[in-house]
Amino acid sequence: MKVAVLSGGVGGARFLRGVVDAVDPADVTAVVNVGDDLEVLGVAVSPDLDSVMYALAGVADEERGWGRADETWNALATVETLGGDAWFRLGDRDLGLHLVRTQALRTGVPLSAVTARLGAALGLEPTILPATDDPLRTWLDTPNGSFDFQHWFVARGHRDPVDRVRFVGASDARPAPGVLEALHEAELILIAPSNPYVSIAPILAVARIRSALERRRVPCVAVSPVIGGEAVKGPAGAMLQRIEGGSTPRHVAQCYPGLIDALVIDEADAAFDAGVHTIVTKTLMRDAASRRALAEAALDAVALA
Ligand code: GDP
Ligand code: CA
Repeated sequence: MKVAVLSGGVGGARFLRGVVDAVDPADVTAVVNVGDDLEVLGVAVSPDLDSVMYALAGVADEERGWGRADETWNALATVETLGGDAWFRLGDRDLGLHLVRTQALRTGVPLSAVTARLGAALGLEPTILPATDDPLRTWLDTPNGSFDFQHWFVARGHRDPVDRVRFVGASDARPAPGVLEALHEAELILIAPSNPYVSIAPILAVARIRSALERRRVPCVAVSPVIGGEAVKGPAGAMLQRIEGGSTPRHVAQCYPGLIDALVIDEADAAFDAGVHTIVTKTLMRDAASRRALAEAALDAVALA
């Protein structure tokens, strides 16, 4: 079964590992958020693409939740000693990938083509696509000012409450080559349990991706990143509370108006009416078996067609 998955970083990557376990990996296309991308120390970093690639290649650091396993931090220590920008943590192994990507981008290779090269070099079977090759950056408006994603998330520890999320460059952003084709050919579209505001919304901010979902002829199923009203990790729960007015399944579903046919929710949230068809299961991905079971529950929704 051909599947397209909209994905952010860590939550999306965990889910994708389950998906490629449950269907032929070659039939899976991940359409990944680039709103968090940044240039730091002269290198181009795409944190969500990297989380997805590292997870699927089996080289991610599962405990830390981001970056690579067996990482060392010598380059960063040097940067710190020399008074350089050390707020964004880049490990030595990770840095190697950023160097290769940065060089390719500088010679005019689009991000999607660079990502395809990196994926092939890592031996990945699924197709990994950035949502767009065009510059699209997430900004957060907070009572303490407006910040680009990484300054809000990493430098300020996402402690500023968010009133509004904006996507600079979105109005001119075109889907990366392959994205619309993947959405069109998919027998099922999945939205990973990623942060709806800062991981999925920047993908949907590309107008032609959003309209492809609105006009879908196959089911689209989102998996909630919330368990028992709280995000498993990160600011999604607080953002839902402040922006949507709550963090129940209904509030998660409201992030995807007209875009989903079902929402996969946790047993802990089963008492709530989501306002869309719900699939109730265990949604905590703690190991390979639970990742695969969650993916299978979402994939079963193909029967909704
Ligand atoms: P980021 O780009 O690295 O922040 O990652 P994502 O946006 O893809 O994922 C972050 C979201 O994943 C958070 O809102 C978490 O609540 C969610 N998440 C992480 N692990 C799990 C899990 O095991 N189950 C579910 N349902 N959600 C999870
Ligand atoms: Ca991210």
